[in-house]
Amino acid sequence: MMDVNIIGGGVIGLSIAYELVKQGLTVAVFDRQQFGEEASWAGAGMLPPAKMECATTPGGQLRAASQPLWPEWSRCLQEESGIDNGYLNCGGLHVSLSEEVADWQNYVDDWRRTGTVVEELDSVSLRERAPFLSEQIQSGFYLPEMGQVRNPRHMKALLSACASRGVALHAGAPVIGFKTEGENVTGVRTPSGVHRAGQTVIAGGAWSPEVLSRLGIQCDLIPVQGQIVLLSMKRLLFRQVIEAGRRYLVPRSDGKILIGSTEKQAGFNKENTAEGVAGLIAFAQSVVPGLKEATFERAWAGLRPKSIDGLPYLGRVAGYQNLIMAAGHYRDGLQLSPITAKLIRQLICGEEPEISLEPFSCSRGIQTD
Ligand SMILES: Cc1cc2nc3c(=O)[nH]c(=O)nc-3n(C[C@H](O)[C@H](O)[C@H](O)COP(=O)(O)OP(=O)(O)OC[C@H]3O[C@@H](n4cnc5c(N)ncnc54)[C@H](O)[C@@H]3O)c2cc1C
Repeated sequence: MMDVNIIGGGVIGLSIAYELVKQGLTVAVFDRQQFGEEASWAGAGMLPPAKMECATTPGGQLRAASQPLWPEWSRCLQEESGIDNGYLNCGGLHVSLSEEVADWQNYVDDWRRTGTVVEELDSVSLRERAPFLSEQIQSGFYLPEMGQVRNPRHMKALLSACASRGVALHAGAPVIGFKTEGENVTGVRTPSGVHRAGQTVIAGGAWSPEVLSRLGIQCDLIPVQGQIVLLSMKRLLFRQVIEAGRRYLVPRSDGKILIGSTEKQAGFNKENTAEGVAGLIAFAQSVVPGLKEATFERAWAGLRPKSIDGLPYLGRVAGYQNLIMAAGHYRDGLQLSPITAKLIRQLICGEEPEISLEPFSCSRGIQTD
């Protein structure tokens, strides 16, 4: 019998497992396939800056609490796994394409209100700082504190650290049911049998509603597909993340460049479309014309788990004493994974969570029959 069963071995499930096992709890994680192969692998790994003293919204508070945890998480994971997750303070350039100019000043002000350092750039200083940008782009600003992580490597590091600390890792083990006694979930059922634990955490990303349905619980959470194109160059033209509206370019240190991302409700479909791939490549070239010379490597799509209001569900599920939800992180699950793990650990260990979980309550979109 374990202290905690976790359903889902994406960045959220494995981060929670790592945080719990470090406190001496016994933990099992179940994934229906190999660990970390869904959204947590597919994402771009951008880690935007935020400051707690300026955070005015619940989402802003989560972001501000998570950001300072990254350096220490990355250091510990590297020490324990020998894997460098590529965490990097690379800086970020936000540029304005013509169709987005109308909102530009509001956008700059929004960033300033988060308390992060914003260097506004006119057309001359923009050209000096970023000579690789298209001449069509006339305004931009620079965020020196923007970071990134190579999420596929981060997943490997998490998995390895969990394994060496003794987390019971069950790959190819879909949770297909639960064992309950009154208001308690006493175990999860997989094809190999029932695995008992004192508490159960659902971290099934976009598949969480299906998992909850096995307890007769309805969950308002949908998959939102995002496509990414990967290019590579022998010599990187730029080293900072470049964002324009909701699309972006993320350069990796080995010359790979991620172009993201589309956003579409397409059920659980993870196929790339000609329109999606062509649109992303055209976007990339319109921002950095030199990318015309880049090599096309591959494209993929992932499913972001989106809750009723875009904020994650974090906390206990009504109707059960010991069932906890940690899903619905939408576009921010990688950046929010350290703070999510900490908050869920605090909840499980009976401590006061350092951020109120009220705004993330499951009652927003999860109903027990
Ligand atoms: C294109 C794209 C770009 C993104 N970019 C960023 C970014 O730059 N920064 C950022 O912070 N976030 C980003 N995100 C969002 C981020 O990737 C997600 O929010 C995050 O990965 C969600 O993690 P998760 O662990 O909840 O879900 P997942 O990674 O999807 O993991 C859920 C796991 O549950 C397992 N599972 C499902 N059903 C069962 C079952 N019945 N039994 C056992 N296991 C089950 C699945 O196999 C899966 O491994 C991006 C996402 C996409 C798609």
